[in-house]
Amino acid sequence: MAKTALITGSSSGIGLGIARSFAEAGYNLIFNGLEDNGAEIAAGVASEFGIETYFSPTNLMDPAAIRKMVEEAESRFGGVDVLVNNAGVQYVAPIEEFPESKWDLILGVNLSAAFHATKAVWPGMQSRGFGRIINIASVHGLKASPFKTAYVAAKHGMVGLTKVLALEGAEHGITANAICPGYVKTPLVEKQIPEQAKSHGMTEEEVTEKVFLKAHAVKDFVKVETLGALALFLAGEGAATVTGTAIPVDGGWAAK
Ligand code: NAD
Repeated sequence: MAKTALITGSSSGIGLGIARSFAEAGYNLIFNGLEDNGAEIAAGVASEFGIETYFSPTNLMDPAAIRKMVEEAESRFGGVDVLVNNAGVQYVAPIEEFPESKWDLILGVNLSAAFHATKAVWPGMQSRGFGRIINIASVHGLKASPFKTAYVAAKHGMVGLTKVLALEGAEHGITANAICPGYVKTPLVEKQIPEQAKSHGMTEEEVTEKVFLKAHAVKDFVKVETLGALALFLAGEGAATVTGTAIPVDGGWAAK
């Protein structure tokens, strides 16, 4: 029987890229996100790859709604074998100007939602003796940059959460790992390139290399396909002893 993966924030960017890798490998998928065309995206992936999908518009700031999302997934597909905690938001400002509401939002979506979703899938994974938790952290789960208090705190928290889940899951066949990407050219980042070029008085090529890829040793964006292939590996039976890790996929950023 096909395995099932629930991927949060999968109607855009990295989550969608990971979803496509899992679809190609024959998983059934629960899509989630705030995009208006989420249901169309889920249906398109289903027909392209011949798998079962549906879209859950659950807002991850609501723990009760997260529990409902998991209950629905379990009743429609018989269980969640793989949970990818991917949804995330960003806000950049010096601490003295950082709005409290943005701190709460970033901690809520980027960290607390992963706790609530994992807690909800855990009993099913335990009872089946198999589970995979894949947390999309960031190189900012390992390194800091100025003006990103909430994001860096949440992503370091995600790495800590992953380690504890690995210890608690070990005797139940559940692994937990974090993937720590450097810059990925998602719609979110693409939008910033012309804006940054304008404010730095640079061309788009210059701003890409000198601003976005400054910390990457490999001067290229990380591809969503690379993240999809890694997530798929971590989800497999063959990765049973890979757990509690935080794997940088960052063009060498964390090596510095
Ligand atoms: P994106 O903006 O393209 O996608 C984010 C997804 O999260 C969207 O589907 C959005 O609807 C969803 N989301 C946001 N708030 C939500 C909420 N309250 N409830 C439900 N869904 C919500 O961004 P992305 O670049 O694909 O980022 C995905 C993940 O990867 C994030 O956790 C991000 O921090 C991480 N990441 C991104 C980069 C990068 O360079 N793009 C680098 C490292 C880590």
